[in-house]
Amino acid sequence: MDFEKIRQTDSEHYMSVFNRANVCFTHGKGNKLYDSFGNEYTDFTAGIAVNCLGYGDPDLVGAIAAQAEKLIHVSNLYYNEPQTVLCETLTSGTGFSRVFFSNSGAEANECAIKLARKYRYDRGENKSTVLCAEESFHGRTLTTATATGQEKYSKPYAPLTPGFKHVPYNDFAALKAALTDDVGAIMLEPLQGESGVTPASYDYLVNVYALCKQTGTLLILDEVQTGVMRTGKFFCFEHYGISPDIVTLAKGLAGGVPIGATLANGDVAETFKPGDHGSTFGGNPLACAAANAVINKVTSPEFSDAIERAGRRLKDRLMELRKYKFVKDVRGKGLIFGLQLDEKLPAASVVGRMRSEGFLIAAAGHNTLRFIPPLTITPKEIDLMSAALAKIFSATNI
Ligand SMILES: *Cc1c(COP(=O)(O)O)cnc(C)c1O
Repeated sequence: MDFEKIRQTDSEHYMSVFNRANVCFTHGKGNKLYDSFGNEYTDFTAGIAVNCLGYGDPDLVGAIAAQAEKLIHVSNLYYNEPQTVLCETLTSGTGFSRVFFSNSGAEANECAIKLARKYRYDRGENKSTVLCAEESFHGRTLTTATATGQEKYSKPYAPLTPGFKHVPYNDFAALKAALTDDVGAIMLEPLQGESGVTPASYDYLVNVYALCKQTGTLLILDEVQTGVMRTGKFFCFEHYGISPDIVTLAKGLAGGVPIGATLANGDVAETFKPGDHGSTFGGNPLACAAANAVINKVTSPEFSDAIERAGRRLKDRLMELRKYKFVKDVRGKGLIFGLQLDEKLPAASVVGRMRSEGFLIAAAGHNTLRFIPPLTITPKEIDLMSAALAKIFSATNI
């Protein structure tokens, strides 16, 4: 199909929920993507923090191909070894004792919310309310869209799931004041991704953790975007020296194959009994074999050193761009960074101009440019990307 045919068929027959760029990718290699006209792009979006090993990684492709030949899917009514291996990896030395696998971030969060509510239900407690943050993003199912602290994602779909309250992010006093007797769990991203790459301040998250311990409130951390080495550590919460009762993973976990994971600890992990929850596809051998290959690779010492070096390089380069007066802020950790622009320079226009220069970057909330490259991004690619950005900024007169 030629590009024009693809564009037109899509515009007529795909539900029009996406503002798609006028480009159709056909293949990728390393940290580069190629479109149907043969143009090359260096990727700083990684399928939104998903393709952590870039494209065509021989170990990931090999693991997927080998597993596909043996067994793609089998019902969860039976055991499958790749799932058990992944389950063991995610629970050994992480502080979590059990895991449940699903297929997406929203599903992983949906499971976390169900787990927290059933934990209270089993104890006969009236503590079904989940306290969430404004500007958060937790997914698109009806319940996770309700948990999401942005009305645009939930308002048209009322009546919404009851039992969610929202407080300003990074405001401990506001959170503490909202911790009424009906609240059984607090659900937060340790770094808000979609709404503009805003890390939790150290004091905030440490205080929230202490408050949860003090009051017996469950802490759920949504690490769908920040997990699996994205911030330089396997879990972003490790930067804070804390550990939640429940954590969710998805995006980067299987390097592009759909997967979600909900990890829990202690009594919380023992909550679900046979029949309480389930998934047809979740944790199937193909997705788990891919996740096993990803984890093997990204947690090796050499790999995490490379992430650290690349992250520092990206941060330095972005910080240099603060000399342009319309660059308002640079925020992030590891290999997830946001560069906030003045409202007069729309992030979407910079994203478009960068694409013409052969670089893919994403926009996020609050007019922020978001950089979430494959974890394999090289210093040279970082320098070329930031040079292209500087070129665009130099030519911008606002
Ligand atoms: C992307 C994202 C989700 C939703 O994940 P899906 O796989 O799109 O359902 C949830 N939480 C956070 C923090 C995310 O970044």
